[in-house]
Amino acid sequence: MKLIWTLDVPVEPVWTALMQCAADYACVCEGISRPCAAAVRLCDDAAIRELNAAHRGIDRSTDVLSFPLMDYAPGQTAGTCGNALAEIYDDEVNACMLGDLVISTGHVTAQAEEYGHSVQREAAYLLVHGLCHLFGYDHIDPEDQRRMRAMEEKILGGIGITRDGDGTVSDETLRALARSARERSYSPYSRYAVGAALLCADGRVFQGCNVENASYGATMCAERTAVFKAVSEGEAEFTAIAIAAQGSAPWPCGLCRQVLNEFAPDIRVLITWEGGDDEAPLSALLPHGFGPKDLL
Ligand SMILES: [Zn+2]
Repeated sequence: MKLIWTLDVPVEPVWTALMQCAADYACVCEGISRPCAAAVRLCDDAAIRELNAAHRGIDRSTDVLSFPLMDYAPGQTAGTCGNALAEIYDDEVNACMLGDLVISTGHVTAQAEEYGHSVQREAAYLLVHGLCHLFGYDHIDPEDQRRMRAMEEKILGGIGITRDGDGTVSDETLRALARSARERSYSPYSRYAVGAALLCADGRVFQGCNVENASYGATMCAERTAVFKAVSEGEAEFTAIAIAAQGSAPWPCGLCRQVLNEFAPDIRVLITWEGGDDEAPLSALLPHGFGPKDLL
């Protein structure tokens, strides 16, 4: 899912990374087959209060506001409305523009403290709540509320986020996140688009895609993009990586095997493509690997 950001308030990159991950998995859970986009603005309490007053006549700040562009038929949501989503296809973003979300960073910080979890977790929670509204869910009557809550739980649980504690990221989810990351591949030369999703020991997921270059040599693989993103954000303990492609089985190249071996010689490598799913431990893909242990 394409998120178009407006950051009135500067935030740590980990916020937007986790929110992207949550948005990608939300589309998977909802079963949306078309490319989708949403505009996401992160602002302060004063700005969201102004919007709340202007659009809902409520003159106080709030945590999240959703402005869906799609008018769903009763009982329908983005995943069940079939071709109706084509109505909101936006040629400029090359995706179905679901609408706008506004999130108050002041509320994110305060609510994270109240619930005793990280700010990025709260930001992802609010993004998922807002996205569910853009998908057509609501919580006006109890039955609607139950359906919306169940979808929120499914999305957040799938990527290891719950309000009460840590969930676990399943192999299926990790593969789905790799397939979503693949949509952002920049591969005009090989046309071999690859996505990766790297699971860290603490449950965080970093996504990556291959980024090619006119020089060819400056190209970076999806797996190393994910690893370098994680390491540069302070994460260096990895338990699994999923890699997605089409056309042939996307086992990692030799360079990526070497880089994975540097941090996680025991990591599980999961692949997914139209030929199916497969898995192997890195130790089987890089036997007798040379690593930090050899220099001690
Ligand atoms: Zn590689």
